[in-house]
Amino acid sequence: MGEPPRVGVVDPRPEHLSGGAPVTKTMREIVDGVHQLEIPMRRNPLGKTFSYLLRDAGTLIDTGIPTKKGLDALEDQLSTLGLGISDIEKIIVTHMHTDHVGLIDRIQEKTAVTVVALEEAVNVQRQWDETRETAYEDTRDEIAAWGGSDFLKLFSQYEHVFRRPRWKLEIDETITDGERLRLGSVSLEALWTPGHAREHLCLHDAENEILFSGDHVLPKITSHISHHAYHVGDPLGNYLESLDRVRDLPVKTVLPGHEWIFHELAGRVSELEDHHERRCGEIIAALKRGARTVFDVSSVVSWDSQPWDRMAFWTKRMAAAETYAHLAYLRNRERVVERRRDRVLEFEAA
Ligand SMILES: [Zn+2]
Repeated sequence: MGEPPRVGVVDPRPEHLSGGAPVTKTMREIVDGVHQLEIPMRRNPLGKTFSYLLRDAGTLIDTGIPTKKGLDALEDQLSTLGLGISDIEKIIVTHMHTDHVGLIDRIQEKTAVTVVALEEAVNVQRQWDETRETAYEDTRDEIAAWGGSDFLKLFSQYEHVFRRPRWKLEIDETITDGERLRLGSVSLEALWTPGHAREHLCLHDAENEILFSGDHVLPKITSHISHHAYHVGDPLGNYLESLDRVRDLPVKTVLPGHEWIFHELAGRVSELEDHHERRCGEIIAALKRGARTVFDVSSVVSWDSQPWDRMAFWTKRMAAAETYAHLAYLRNRERVVERRRDRVLEFEAA
């Protein structure tokens, strides 16, 4: 579904994100043949996406946003190893958010690469196609269902955004959960870790005890877990199961999509679980104090980034999608009751 910019899910054509001083970084070698590259991302609080080079296999895991600065940064860093864009043969994507896959188009303008993703990425794109025509109406109805009718007039100004064709990633090869990939000197196991995105992939290198964690586990920020009224599913439930899945892997080094490299995987997983359980408790307390709708609840719980009142509408919508993921999770576990009154979803602590 085409939608306006979201944090971590940047608009596919954000030329306005380029600009500023050129960034030249030296690649960091993690283990022999595995290098970390920094692709800058201005006007996004995350600041950069990490791309990882598996040198012997001419393979990148993720890229960055589609800007000239991003491509320049990639080329600069490859050149420190005596490599160029034409040495890249394959790109494996952890998930289809633009800060991870956006730069692929520009790389492909320079050289032929094979794009590899989990099978689920194909399903997700098919669903985008199938729902594109009704994306505006679905989103409008969702805003009403979440108790945000006050915003509908503002929202209607963005109809054109929802009508334009959605960018599409051409996936050349798909891999399945549990599949083993031999990439030069590195052997990786594909782990389907739905939650932040339904198609999210982590890659485990058991020999070197490395996890390429994408945006599934980040060292400081909590990954955005959203849910929508026009989707069925349980993204937060999936996410917590996916956290469980990686917790006890033999991993000494986590290579995330943003922030910094870290080492305490199990500890970080526990922190994230605690965060979501605290969040669920906070939401239930808000319902007990009288909050009823998704927007009601969102306006009284605490947000790390900025207070609700100061959020722009699109940020509010993103925050509401996060609240709704928690409410759906609680509803599915009978900790919360959901009822529909006219067009509006109302929630109550069970
Ligand atoms: Zn990301």
